Amino acid sequence: SAKEKGKNMYEFYHNYLKEKNPKQLSLEADVRKAVKEKQFEIFYQPQIGYANGKMFGVEALLRWNHPKEGLIKPEDFIAIVEDSELIIELGEWVLSESSKQVKSWQEQGCENLYLSVNVSIKQFFHHNFIGKIKEIFEETGYNLERLDLEITESLAIKDVEYAKDIFDKLRHLGISISMDDFGTGYSSLNHLKNFSIDRLKIDGSLVRDIEHDEKARTIIDTIIVMARNLKLLSLAEQVETVEQEAYLKSIGCNEVQGYLYSEPLTGDDMGEFLANNYNASLLNRVDVS
Ligand code: C2E
Ligand code: MG
Ligand code: MG
Ligand code: MG
Repeated sequence: SAKEKGKNMYEFYHNYLKEKNPKQLSLEADVRKAVKEKQFEIFYQPQIGYANGKMFGVEALLRWNHPKEGLIKPEDFIAIVEDSELIIELGEWVLSESSKQVKSWQEQGCENLYLSVNVSIKQFFHHNFIGKIKEIFEETGYNLERLDLEITESLAIKDVEYAKDIFDKLRHLGISISMDDFGTGYSSLNHLKNFSIDRLKIDGSLVRDIEHDEKARTIIDTIIVMARNLKLLSLAEQVETVEQEAYLKSIGCNEVQGYLYSEPLTGDDMGEFLANNYNASLLNRVDVS
């Protein structure tokens, strides 16, 4: 009976919830409310080109201003959100908010500024993903030639044929595609042959090991050579030290992102940062000879 079913469901959730730690439990319960009450905030981190040392874009990174826990990073909630349909709503909110913000910076003198946005698996494989993208950007009036979507390889290979088709449709709209966290997943060369993408983002876990692990250096070097030969851009993420920068420069990495240049900033702080630094070189003067 329905009543029995209800009781079983109750027992199921009861047991399921019991196994989670209280903190995670209350986070889960708070997500829906947080979406409604706009407790989420977008931070922006500069992306810098090695050719001239200048910032050309920003990556939108989600933060949660939790009323009790304070500022929470995605690692502590994104998996929970991605487990539910809420990620669709939240992902759409990120696209809409960040594009409005970056458009206003473009109008204030940073005409060519790029926006990079992370896309989660549920969003990407949602049947109306392309339709939603069109709708959101028609509404915000954002130039899609200045939009980059960051997609992880492990996401794309869940359904290679479907992903290929979505990539093609996105690129047809003028959107660029970056393969995020490259070097950590399957990194199959065959996929790179199949997918029409624009950029490889080399994962921070490889960058972190540059100074003390020759194998990490060799892998990064190989990724960059391969990217160049496939006519893809390469970006190293989570660059923290001048030694890492010197190495990346010496092997011809195209772009960088990391605390060495700037942490992710609030919209207000990024606005100020752009006003002072948009045309300045952000690279440290490192002798790579
Ligand atoms: P990601 O896209 O690979 O983002 C890079 C992460 O590295 C960010 O963590 C960033 O704050 C951090 N980072 C940047 N520079 C440095 C550095 O020099 N050192 C170190 N140690 N870390 C650095 P964050 O903001 O915590 O985001 C973590 C992940 O959450 C992101 O990884 C992305 O996969 C996901 N994420 C963030 N925002 C969104 C979003 O709006 N939607 C979706 N679906 N996922 C998001
Ligand atoms: Mg990313
Ligand atoms: Mg990444
Ligand atoms: Mg990552």
